[in-house]
Amino acid sequence: MTKVVLITGASRGIGRATARLLGARGWSVGVNYAHNEAAARETAAEVGRAGGHARVIPGDVADESAVIAMFDSLVHAFGRIDAVVNNAGIVAPSMQVADMDADRLRRVFDVNVLGAFLVAREAARRMAKDRGGDGGVIVNVSSAASRLGSPNEYVDYASSKGAVDTMTIGLAKELGPQGVRVNAVRPGLIDTEIHASGGRPDRAAVLGAQTPLGRAGSADEVAEAIVWLLSDAASYVNGALLDVSAGR
Ligand code: NAP
Repeated sequence: MTKVVLITGASRGIGRATARLLGARGWSVGVNYAHNEAAARETAAEVGRAGGHARVIPGDVADESAVIAMFDSLVHAFGRIDAVVNNAGIVAPSMQVADMDADRLRRVFDVNVLGAFLVAREAARRMAKDRGGDGGVIVNVSSAASRLGSPNEYVDYASSKGAVDTMTIGLAKELGPQGVRVNAVRPGLIDTEIHASGGRPDRAAVLGAQTPLGRAGSADEVAEAIVWLLSDAASYVNGALLDVSAGR
């Protein structure tokens, strides 16, 4: 039977690479985005070319009614839900905490923490066996920043990913008995557009060169870890925080 996954923030970067890889494994993929519909459509086309099925699903993860609508749309399109990749995330321009205003902090925590919680909550409501679901898998996309702290860049972002780590640990214990595994990947310096949105397009290349593996990672390398955690090959892995960070 074809498996069905919702990937938040799949219009580019790690979300798109994960969608493509799952397409190649025959999955049906809900391709969520917030702003760039054309890019999400390109992701969906790539899923199709890889051998899967895709549905483009708009919605800001920080908006509760939009998140509920995303899940409704996925189930309407494919009839079921087996997995969620809680991937949408943002950074804001690099600065010290002393210079951060409340609007910036609110948006970073709204998307990265509230958004991740709303998506995980909705996944739990639909997949947990005690709520009528068939079980499933959640992979949260955290960051190595949660243990590094990101000083002078974005301590707010790092802290938001700390919340994602803790949510992963707690939710794994809550949902394991209900047939839902919950894990996180913690990418390191991955070559995507997120660094440009933080004001430093060359950040992954420059800092990646200083990692033990001497380079930035690719979105495809993170996608491999996510897809493994989603698969039955990881059937005894629950509550894990899997670093994909070159040993940094
Ligand atoms: P990216 O290239 O900037 O892509 C981010 C994706 O999230 C885009 O598809 C964007 O779509 C979507 N998005 C942003 N805000 C959203 C919202 N409010 N609701 C729904 N979708 C939203 O970033 P990436 O590098 O692939 O990052 C993916 C995840 O990996 C993030 O959680 C990030 O924190 C994490 N991560 C990345 C790195 C890295 O080095 N790249 C390292 C560690 C962790 P639209 O533009 O269409 O809204």
